[in-house]
Amino acid sequence: MLSTMQDVPLTVTRILVHGTLVHGDSKITTWTGTGEPQRRTFRETGLRAVQLANALRDELGVRRDDRVATLMWNNAEHVEAYLAIPAMGAILHTLNLRLPAEQLVWITKHAADRVVLVNGSLLPLLAPLLPGMESVEHVVVVGPGDTSLLDGCAPAVHEYESLIGDRPTTYDWPELDEREAAAMCYTSGTTGDPKGVLFSHRSIYLHSMQVNMAESMALTTSDTTLPVVPMFHVNAWGIPHAAFMSGINLLMPDRFLQPGPLAEMIEAERPTHAAAVPTIWQGLLGELTARPRDISSLASVVIGGSACPPALMEAYDKLGVRVCHAWGMTETSPLGSLAQTPPGLTPEQEWPYRISQGRFPAGVEARLAGPDGEFMPWDGEAAGELEVRGPWIAGAYYGGAGADPFRPEDKFSPDGWLRTGDVGTITPDGYLTLTDRAKDVIKSGGEWISSVELENHLMAHPEVAEAAVVAVPDDKWGERPLATVVLKEGSSATYESLRAFLAGRIAHWQLPERWAIIPAVPKTSVGKFDKKVIRKDYADGKLDVTKLS
Ligand code: ADP
Repeated sequence: MLSTMQDVPLTVTRILVHGTLVHGDSKITTWTGTGEPQRRTFRETGLRAVQLANALRDELGVRRDDRVATLMWNNAEHVEAYLAIPAMGAILHTLNLRLPAEQLVWITKHAADRVVLVNGSLLPLLAPLLPGMESVEHVVVVGPGDTSLLDGCAPAVHEYESLIGDRPTTYDWPELDEREAAAMCYTSGTTGDPKGVLFSHRSIYLHSMQVNMAESMALTTSDTTLPVVPMFHVNAWGIPHAAFMSGINLLMPDRFLQPGPLAEMIEAERPTHAAAVPTIWQGLLGELTARPRDISSLASVVIGGSACPPALMEAYDKLGVRVCHAWGMTETSPLGSLAQTPPGLTPEQEWPYRISQGRFPAGVEARLAGPDGEFMPWDGEAAGELEVRGPWIAGAYYGGAGADPFRPEDKFSPDGWLRTGDVGTITPDGYLTLTDRAKDVIKSGGEWISSVELENHLMAHPEVAEAAVVAVPDDKWGERPLATVVLKEGSSATYESLRAFLAGRIAHWQLPERWAIIPAVPKTSVGKFDKKVIRKDYADGKLDVTKLS
């Protein structure tokens, strides 16, 4: 029997209309670096988004399903694009401006982007790539920049403000099927070509609701959140759409992502919340230690994208900032789990929950696939590869042969669950702890060594700034850990002393023999440790490795 409920599609259009009407007074503040931030209300932003939709349709001829790319920082205009492009039935494609040039060109071609919205400050990056981006017909320049760089380029060039300026503030929004694509994002291509994930209107709507749940980020109209995580890194973890849905004020860092300006904007604009990968928090911590600032407005922050070292969490605890650890991936929209703790626990009892990757929200089903394909119990001990499914989890990638979606076997189980490539355990009350990515696990003899555990212990050493551990081939054991360590300035720690520090904390057989002090851990385009570079440097003999007996 069918229900008697109305069947209203869950679309980004509804988020746009709702945020504009109901939360019109909420604010988007964009840092400009001039001392005078740009300030807009949701009402203004929503109306400008409507004008943008009109301009894209009437001036640029954008039609349903057309891909409209953005090469932009986190700012108010990017939010306008986030709302307008999906609402008009086109597909928002956020380009990661830190990708190597050839990957950006490849992705733009693969997605067949017709339009690129680009921040003026990024024209030096885009201009030389345009000849290779054959599908691009229009470039829309947002904000000041040297447009002469585009002289002679094939696509038509438009200036954002004059393009949207006099357009109507109403739009006859199309009736969309909630399962249609609204936005797309490519994985960062750690293995092979990047893979495109198409988010639906429905997945964005439901994901936004879960971001706003008390069990997740629990933000309201009295909060201001600072998404340092870029809007090209899995939709800034869903924060812009979630914010527009619930009237959460946004503080946008634009291109000012260095620790100094971040500390300055937190002190000046007093956000209550922020979100970023561990390397950003690590950098900010260094800045705050060198030049203390008032960051007391920050009640809680989300750290995810890679494992949050417990030592980092402790350091922010001391500053009165509560860290919430979260796990996710491009394919999971991205929030897959968040480490809010059960009630009634002492800080000591809470700790193991807080450093875990967290609990799954309703909407993310999880299971652990063991080495022989059997599913492991949720007992907090048995490890397996995490598989997930749910309404905001990808079931395929964009564009296999022709326009077909494709489902590589290593990424999807025969019954359609996403194989995450992450290895870990789940407790009986549903808390996930990841020990490694499947490809980063160190297989020593018959045993597995967790690179993440070794890194966390090393990064708890007072003189260690960063540490990355990778597997390297070993004649006797198959693989052994190589510890690469970045020491804090003025440190006199030796390999022996670092190993002695580890010795009290992990089993003896897990202690690394091979060590290298490096100036910095190489990072991926979204600021994660890039272990494949370390493995390659080791294989190419580029690391100065000391082997302890
Ligand atoms: P990429 O795989 O290219 O880095 P994603 O941003 O989608 O792109 O990364 C997803 C991966 O990041 C996850 O599969 C997981 O390995 C890692 N990750 C994300 N959050 C965490 C976390 N809190 N702890 C450990 N690993 C994490």
